[in-house]
Amino acid sequence: MEVLIVEDDDAMAAALDAAVISAGHRATRVSRGADALLVHRKFEVILLDLGLPDIDGLEVLRKLRQVTPCPILILTARDDERSVVLGLRSGADDYLVKPVKLVELLARIEAVTRRAGRFGGTRQHSIVLGDLEIDVDRRVAALSSRVLPLTATEFDLLALLAGHAGSVVTREQILDALWGDAFLASSRSLDVHLTGLRAKLQLPGFIINVRGVGYRIEANPA
Ligand code: CA
Repeated sequence: MEVLIVEDDDAMAAALDAAVISAGHRATRVSRGADALLVHRKFEVILLDLGLPDIDGLEVLRKLRQVTPCPILILTARDDERSVVLGLRSGADDYLVKPVKLVELLARIEAVTRRAGRFGGTRQHSIVLGDLEIDVDRRVAALSSRVLPLTATEFDLLALLAGHAGSVVTREQILDALWGDAFLASSRSLDVHLTGLRAKLQLPGFIINVRGVGYRIEANPA
């Protein structure tokens, strides 16, 4: 399993790293919250310290939760009940109190990943919505059997929205999936790609703008 350790204390990070590796997992350590937000997608479990030098750990947690269902275990320096409660309310799967016991750490990692596995669906390889067909493997989208001349980004955007048809996909989820950074400062480029995609689809009302949240494609288009 790929484990991300977000911890600014070198000694603590080294101990966690050794523990994770001893159990046969792979570990990557970052010491800043901003780095966690950038690299999180490669990992299956995230160990998140709450006291980080750049961004408060709870804020990092909330931001991660907006974009990933990845199991997150928070690490608290002491038995800080308030942080634990806030962490769990903000979407942490579990918590560990430092100093972390090796056996406990591994047991918690096993438990949260087992739980997460129940929700992990298999990846879709083709999506059909009315007259629209998307071949995810070949990266081709066709409308009424006519191939749409989409750019790579327009295709990714369409496949993402269509893969979640019936649900709202937030701007943060889109930015994270397409650019690897949910909190991209210049999110205006998304609007540009969306305009291009809509122009090529020529299906008014197909991609619905959910004001202030994100976008949705209906599961059963007319
Ligand atoms: Ca710390």
